[in-house]
Amino acid sequence: QAQSAHKLSVHILIAMGLAIVAGAVLKGVVAPDSVFAINVIDGAFNAIGQIFIRSLQLLVIPLVFVSLVCGTSSLTDIAQLGRIGGKALGLYMLTTAAAITLAIVFALLFSPGKGVALEAGDFDVKASPSMWDVLINIMPKNPIEAMAEGNMLQVILFSVLLGIAISQSGNAGKRLNEFFEDWNTVILKLVHILVMLAPYGVFCLLTRVVYQLGLDAIAPLAKYFGTVLFALLIQLLVIYPALVTVLARANPVPFLSKMKGAWIFAFSTASSNATLPITLSTVREKLGVSNRIASFSVPLGATINMDGTAIMQGVATVFIAQVYGIDLTMTQILTVIATATLASIGTAGVPGVGLIMLTLVLQQVGLPIEGIAMIIGIDRLLDMSRTAVNITGDAAVACIVANSENEFDRETFNDPKAGED
Ligand code: ASP
Repeated sequence: QAQSAHKLSVHILIAMGLAIVAGAVLKGVVAPDSVFAINVIDGAFNAIGQIFIRSLQLLVIPLVFVSLVCGTSSLTDIAQLGRIGGKALGLYMLTTAAAITLAIVFALLFSPGKGVALEAGDFDVKASPSMWDVLINIMPKNPIEAMAEGNMLQVILFSVLLGIAISQSGNAGKRLNEFFEDWNTVILKLVHILVMLAPYGVFCLLTRVVYQLGLDAIAPLAKYFGTVLFALLIQLLVIYPALVTVLARANPVPFLSKMKGAWIFAFSTASSNATLPITLSTVREKLGVSNRIASFSVPLGATINMDGTAIMQGVATVFIAQVYGIDLTMTQILTVIATATLASIGTAGVPGVGLIMLTLVLQQVGLPIEGIAMIIGIDRLLDMSRTAVNITGDAAVACIVANSENEFDRETFNDPKAGED
């Protein structure tokens, strides 16, 4: 089985390479309004890609519910839960604030918006929820509704409460705990079955993205694009490895190399949520974080921790201000940092949501929201890239919290073959 998992990741990589070639070739020879483009690229390829994304999404709620109930129902020390929650939340906010600060510094250094001609476009402003609504919405009024709607924070809260009740219920609790442990094994099997679709899904999704990629659209925004990518890379290859080294006392090399598989899923789906089954299994099985910590901090992170998204928002804010010739004051910059950090809470990790949250940030500092219309055209590629950063942040925090709670299995972490089955 170890070999089959290894083979799968090789197949996914091959699929990725083939997709880039296929997409580029198709772009050269197939017109967008041709029968082939309509029926195959936008028809069959899109369908297979969407089925792949759905197969991941279908796992999310059962996986989070079952693994989190298992994690909390075996708790003997309820205070530990508070500690894990507090640490995860604190680290998530801290890494997001650091990420956006980094992005703003780079954007001010590189000035991506200076000299860009203003092109007014249409952008539908959607109302963003108030902070109080976000808080109220964490408490589910109906757990089935919460699951049906995929409301992650509500599902997390319900699962934790149920898990605590199970841990306090004596023999009845013990029986239920075993029942959930069995479910946990079965759902993990389902994850392993459904990821078999990945090479086909990744191929179809990426071929279509490369085919549709308007590189001409990137040219005038090359500096913006480059600044976001640069900041994302620094976060991914410098900040996280440093955090893992210092705060989890672990070697950053296996950390990054074990995250590679999950990056491909994040990149091709552009959704932290859809990637959650893979992030969770990577963190548990390859990085050696206990289920108790992983099942709590990873879904929480997929929902509230979006460092890559914050980076895009930081650069985009400075970019839009520069295009409109507005100088940001220090107070405005601090407001951007605070708003973007808080806004990431309660927003699901789905494609494109970062741009919607950007409206909230721009509104707070009085910048023109229509500015978003300038960057929307090239956002998909950045969305894919920042999603890979978002999930890496979740994994890094899981390792740090696990280390501080002595629930970090270093042997697994350092074993290159761990989790390959
Ligand atoms: N697609 C991102 C995610 O799922 C969110 C965003 O930046 O739009 O993590």
